Amino acid sequence: MAEDFYWQAKRLEEMSLQEWERLCDGCGKCCLEKLENPDTGELAFTNVACRFLDLETCRCAHYDERLRYALDCVPLAHDNVGELRWMPSTCAYRLLAEGKDLPDWHPLKTGDSASVARAGQSVRGRAISEKLVGDLEDHIVDWSA
Ligand code: SF4
Ligand code: SF4
Repeated sequence: MAEDFYWQAKRLEEMSLQEWERLCDGCGKCCLEKLENPDTGELAFTNVACRFLDLETCRCAHYDERLRYALDCVPLAHDNVGELRWMPSTCAYRLLAEGKDLPDWHPLKTGDSASVARAGQSVRGRAISEKLVGDLEDHIVDWSA
């Protein structure tokens, strides 16, 4: 019989804080800026990262205090992740909220955090800090959705 992993056995709201945090694959895609067309609501994704994203580790440099530093940072929770349509389609939280499994390259499956970059899912080497960017429209990409 196939092994039952905690992310398959538990609902998001049943997970401990540690289990919840381990779901994050560290891709960094949710920390890239998005543009929303005010008329259509259509979203465009960019390769421009929040100024607090560490572009080497692809982790937030101020994770515990991020809501003090970045006023537009939206904390993820089990009761809002299903509504955040700008979350990337590969995000573990979004996938589980949609009743799907984690991808084969997820570190919880591979046991190796480097598997995210190997699968082409990390922003490492592809993102640029918002501190260096003028017009976001010049940085629209199709890989971070
Ligand atoms: S998109 Fe999801 S899995 Fe990737 S860094 Fe953000 S929260 Fe973590
Ligand atoms: S404050 Fe941190 S978690 Fe929030 S968007 Fe910026 S880098 Fe990401």
